[in-house]
Amino acid sequence: GFSRRGIRSNFVPPIRSNGSNGGHTTSRSLGKCDDALDDTTKRCLEMLYGPDGELPEKLRNLEPRLIEHVSNEIMDRDPNVRWDDIAGLEHAKKCVTEMVIWPLLRPDIFKGCRSPGRGLLLFGPPGTGKTMIGKAIAGEAKATFFYISASSLTSKWIGEGEKLVRALFGVASCRQPAVIFVDEIDSLLSQRKSEGEHESSRRLKTQFLIEMEGFDSGNEQILLIGATNRPQELDEAARRRLTKRLYIPLPSSEARAWIIRNLLEKDGLFKLSKEDTDAICKLTEGYSGSDMKNLVKDASMGPLREALKQGIQITNLKKEDMRSVTLQDFESALQEVRPSVSLNELGTYEEWNKQFGSLS
Ligand code: ADP
Repeated sequence: GFSRRGIRSNFVPPIRSNGSNGGHTTSRSLGKCDDALDDTTKRCLEMLYGPDGELPEKLRNLEPRLIEHVSNEIMDRDPNVRWDDIAGLEHAKKCVTEMVIWPLLRPDIFKGCRSPGRGLLLFGPPGTGKTMIGKAIAGEAKATFFYISASSLTSKWIGEGEKLVRALFGVASCRQPAVIFVDEIDSLLSQRKSEGEHESSRRLKTQFLIEMEGFDSGNEQILLIGATNRPQELDEAARRRLTKRLYIPLPSSEARAWIIRNLLEKDGLFKLSKEDTDAICKLTEGYSGSDMKNLVKDASMGPLREALKQGIQITNLKKEDMRSVTLQDFESALQEVRPSVSLNELGTYEEWNKQFGSLS
């Protein structure tokens, strides 16, 4: 991992002594308000100091509270997803491994002709594992993972989105290799020129593209992953920067079976026969990964509800009093949990994939 220099030591104000380029701004923007910074902010900044004990160039003009927000809320220290947690999507995993993970692990080999694209788009229906893939990439490539939802930039950070984007890319560049995952990227890079497109959101978009351009041309080990379930809203500029575009479809029947087994086995509840599992898979055509998760959750309540119906108090209930989860539990859960993606939507993704998707 990353060395956390001097996390327990005293905060050293980032004032440069040699007065070279940038020093002046530094002492103004951070030194002056040093006393006003709370401990968390100080700790965040300390972690970002270089070996020379100075705040890296890129962070010098940024507001400490934004750096702190990026370090605490957007940076995920332990993404905790492995390839093996993701059902199906063999094709996407293979592409991503070659295109993203190897280059992050071996930058020395992946240069020149082999230099990788720095932008990857994952598109497809909601709840199919796009975020999981992002996290798994960070885990497998031993990279720092940053997660931000683009819509929060426009809603929560009104007027400050631009600054936050700069802080995000700044911190990421100090934490290389890094993976920046931008969820709902369509809301940031959309081609809509509605009346709602204010000056501020246009500036935000420009800032974002500039930052991307920046690490695209440099030697930085930063990968940007955009996820969207509205790929058709991305404009040409966005598509150009997201050079690889992978379709993340609904789970296949095998993948659905795997999700059921995996989730129930974790709790020691998997007792379904092959026939029953097959039957559930037939009944769940069109369910997304997250629909499947909700279905399993609901079905796993079946045995509990039944035991309680027999008059046992929840406080006295013993695990042995509960039967295992059955096909019937799934059949009733299917009444509650409906698929969240319509056939109609699927057509749109497939069309877009044909036109703009990467095949390998
Ligand atoms: P997306 O980013 O595509 O909207 P997520 O990656 O956030 O979807 O998935 C939401 C949840 O659904 C995950 O936390 C996981 O429990 C479940 N899920 C979705 N796709 C898969 C999959 N391919 N394998 C296993 N679980 C999945």
